[in-house]
Amino acid sequence: RAWAQCGVSKKEMEILKKLAYEKPTPIQTQTIPAIMSGRDIIGIAKTGSGKTLAFLLPMFRHILDQPPLEETDGPIAIIMSPTRELCLQIGKECKRFTKALNLRVVTVYGGTGISEQIAELKRGAEIIVCTPGRMIDMLAANNGRVTNLRRVTYIVLDEADRMFDMGFEPQVMRIIDNTRPDRQTVMFSATFPRQMEALARRILNKPIEITV
Ligand code: AMP
Repeated sequence: RAWAQCGVSKKEMEILKKLAYEKPTPIQTQTIPAIMSGRDIIGIAKTGSGKTLAFLLPMFRHILDQPPLEETDGPIAIIMSPTRELCLQIGKECKRFTKALNLRVVTVYGGTGISEQIAELKRGAEIIVCTPGRMIDMLAANNGRVTNLRRVTYIVLDEADRMFDMGFEPQVMRIIDNTRPDRQTVMFSATFPRQMEALARRILNKPIEITV
């Protein structure tokens, strides 16, 4: 199947062509149309399957369909992942598209100074790629004046099983519980153990489960 059937825009198509991503991978073919339709998704897929683009391309479309950010608005999309390395990797993939689409992405992760990330975020960003703990710190920074969750309508939990194993569930839940109930939530995980079912039920609304 072709990119055009995944609802990808002309600008995005040009970038995909330059990257020599000839056609969507199986996870992309299966999840992109479902996510574009606005439904919540559980995608069971490993790293290397192309899952990053599977949640990024529908995210761009979602954001471009929203009114532009005002001065004091926080992000429209939040992508949570378990590690700094993953955050940077997702941020990098995202930045290949954001310039052409006129969107701003900021990566927010722990283990490094927070002030530079604060300065970047204060300039405004439609997209935050974060680790859950540092995102909580960011929401509390400067009495909540750095960023906020009021405009968040698209949330991705990437490598959800790893975030769960690393004990980030309380932080993930605290963030999600403070977002709008009409948000779209997309969860990707390499495995889907029993213990994650309760979490999935709490955060996803009638999800479509897709296993590749
Ligand atoms: P991911 O599973 O998202 O970490 O992606 C694994 C690798 O596949 C990354 O290096 C991507 O840049 C690359 N990739 C993603 N989608 C495609 C595609 N449709 N065709 C070729 N390579 C891709």
